[in-house]
Amino acid sequence: MSIEAAAMDRISVMRPWLGAEEIEAVADVITSGWVAQGPRTADFERAFSQAQGVPFGVATSSCTTALHLALKVADVGPGDDVVVPSLSFIATANAPTYVGARPVFADVDPTTGNVTAATVEAALTPATTAVIVVDQGGVPVDLGPLRELCDRRSLVLIEDAACGAGSTYAGEPVGVGADLTTWSFHPRKLLTTGEGGMLTTCHPEWAARARRLREHAMDVSAADRHTAVLAAKESYTEIGFNYRMTDLQAALGLVQLGRLPEMVRRRRSLAADYRTVLDSLPDLRCVADPPWGTTNFQSFWVEVLPGFPMGRDDLLAWLAADGISARRGIMAAHLEPAYAGHTGTLGPLPATERLTRSTIILPMFHAMTAEELGRVVDSLVLASRSPQRPSRRSPLDGSR
Ligand SMILES: *Cc1c(COP(=O)(O)O)cnc(C)c1O
Repeated sequence: MSIEAAAMDRISVMRPWLGAEEIEAVADVITSGWVAQGPRTADFERAFSQAQGVPFGVATSSCTTALHLALKVADVGPGDDVVVPSLSFIATANAPTYVGARPVFADVDPTTGNVTAATVEAALTPATTAVIVVDQGGVPVDLGPLRELCDRRSLVLIEDAACGAGSTYAGEPVGVGADLTTWSFHPRKLLTTGEGGMLTTCHPEWAARARRLREHAMDVSAADRHTAVLAAKESYTEIGFNYRMTDLQAALGLVQLGRLPEMVRRRRSLAADYRTVLDSLPDLRCVADPPWGTTNFQSFWVEVLPGFPMGRDDLLAWLAADGISARRGIMAAHLEPAYAGHTGTLGPLPATERLTRSTIILPMFHAMTAEELGRVVDSLVLASRSPQRPSRRSPLDGSR
């Protein structure tokens, strides 16, 4: 096969679902002449927070900046410890350091990949003031016991729901039970604005402060000053940031939000299709709904168990040779050079290390065809029947 044909034939791990409505919505913003943060961003904040069942939404430039704002408004700062899972995209662990606090790593449940009240409790120190929990890959964290633990210890509970739009916990959207919840609209998640994020909360003062901090801590927003004929003189109440979303992004987000239920339905149906075959391969364990909620399958990950004839990295190479872009599973921040010598790893993190080394994320995207999904499962079935522990194959060796 030529390189061009192979590239065209490649199955990517994720692809955003964007259509003519998005193009029209962005074109309307350009025509309106107001492209920076303005009325569309306000509309998107209202629509998104309403959809998540939370009273206040503050749009941001990313989930990472929303996490920074969440810690700022909760007054987390130097001298504080913040419990976070290591098994998460590294932004979760980085956020506490932005405010001068120390991230302390908690292990995760080996089935869901999420922290639990027990793993968080093991990571508490006398200096702990906040906990960031994650709905990893869209799997809802079991928030009830964590809420109870945080209330008992007067800790702020922040939910990093970057991957969680469309997932549910106890019959409600994820994020409802946290003090502050952060969302990502990066194209690797379901709903995308190119780049973008949101902070949602039920605390009006925290929402108001985050709104100011996002915009240089101005007491009058740029949009309000622009619409006034004689603008009031603004004042800057503290040191703020520029974490604004643009109206171009918000217009995209409004259309995408309308598509979210259909995105979730589609991904859950693709997950069921994967499982009709993969459930017959006992040494591949698929991510699944926990008893307390439903996942949007933002990441359809599979754990390669020790009985499988090849290890995780060999399986990735095997799939790549068939033109299938799978990915390593969730990273573990404490194993990265950025955290070498970090003092916030208090004990071993066995479940985290096992999952980060043994999981792969399989391709899943809205427009995925039955033929594409069939190619992925066929490749996995062949891999499961291959002789025990073959030598490492090159991903470019198409001679099999
Ligand atoms: C993607 C992701 C982030 C970062 O989101 P951005 O919008 O890219 O900043 C943070 N936390 C988790 C758990 C994520 O998956």
